[in-house]
Amino acid sequence: MSQDSALAPFAAVFAEPAGSPIRELFPYLSRPGMISLAGGYPSPSLFDAEGLAQAAQQAMAQGPGALQYGATEGLSELREALAQQARERGMQATAADILVTTGSQQAFDLLVRVLVEPGDTVLVEVPAYPATLQALRLAQARILPIPMDEQGLQTEALADLLAALPADQRPKLLYTVPNFSNPRGTLLAAERREALVQLARQHGFWVVEDDPYGELRFDEPGGVPQAMPGTVRTAGERLAAGGSNPVVYLSSLSKTVAPALRVGWMLADAPLLRRCTVAKQTADLCTSPLTQSVAACYLASGRYPATVQRARQEYQRRMQALVHGLNAAPDSGIRCSRPAGGMFVWAELDRRIDPQKLFDAAVAQGVVYVPGKAFYPADPDLHTLRMSFAAPEVPQIAQAVERLCQAMHSAMK
Ligand code: PMP
Repeated sequence: MSQDSALAPFAAVFAEPAGSPIRELFPYLSRPGMISLAGGYPSPSLFDAEGLAQAAQQAMAQGPGALQYGATEGLSELREALAQQARERGMQATAADILVTTGSQQAFDLLVRVLVEPGDTVLVEVPAYPATLQALRLAQARILPIPMDEQGLQTEALADLLAALPADQRPKLLYTVPNFSNPRGTLLAAERREALVQLARQHGFWVVEDDPYGELRFDEPGGVPQAMPGTVRTAGERLAAGGSNPVVYLSSLSKTVAPALRVGWMLADAPLLRRCTVAKQTADLCTSPLTQSVAACYLASGRYPATVQRARQEYQRRMQALVHGLNAAPDSGIRCSRPAGGMFVWAELDRRIDPQKLFDAAVAQGVVYVPGKAFYPADPDLHTLRMSFAAPEVPQIAQAVERLCQAMHSAMK
């Protein structure tokens, strides 16, 4: 009998791939009584289940279209509604500037496929969203970190780095979450937005503005941060300014409506959008027309602003419970950021604490967070961590703070 030959090997980047460091924490989450500050999950109590049920009924009542394949670009009613939202934020967008994607996660993946070749230089604000690092590693990009401070990405450090880069290492793109970043919670200062776009024009790289959290602003109700200058302009404006627009804007309904819709979108100039549309054709043909239709009906129902407003208020309460709780604890050994929006608190640990010992003690106490290592492409600052205050209710957060303090106490010993 002939012996079977070994199956063909996996592609090199999938030979021993590292999985998502956050998803690897999932086994801890199922332990009884565990309080999770780990994932960026929106609060289930904030889902507008009634409004979404009505929207789903409406979507189904519109005939078989919601059950059929749809255009790769997305459902026209939804693209129209998203363009309207973009215009309210100062972008000169029309429905034609929008590609609906299966979560904003897919939008970034498409961009990487369209723009990045192995060895290409990519700039990333650090600490960074781990799935972005994962996508770039799989694309074999050369990731260069750009440091952040309380005002977001440090554009002066970026300018210095760009000036020192040899011509053959010109970056393809820069990735940033300017509004309430994941994980640092920072809002990029207005003058840095200007500087960033100017540097992008000067050095010819794309700026990927990933914005799932911009609407979740605490301090100014209704005051969603303005878009990056120059995000999508009309053809006429483009001609007047000369050259094309470097900013690609990504957003999502995951954090404000429901992640299960898997409705995200990309807003960009036509040449890039067209290429991402082709890349999407081989990924999933189209984002589910059913959930797109539910999303369009939901946005048309007029319930969205109140849903977002509820989320803002509730997340602010939860953030305060976490930050005040930890800051009020004597000798907690932890210094927290105080975000003005979003879902995350970034923290630095007293250097005398062993971070692994703290994590083990926290899990033993019944609370889990994401150790900072996950957010660095290399050379991690291990004395950092990210906590999300979005999913647990305020009393649970108070309990999580107590457990963290206990854990800190045992880790300090
Ligand atoms: N970008 C950032 C910064 C995120 O935090 C997330 C979700 N954690 C995503 C993108 C992906 O969101 P989705 O695919 O659900 O739209």
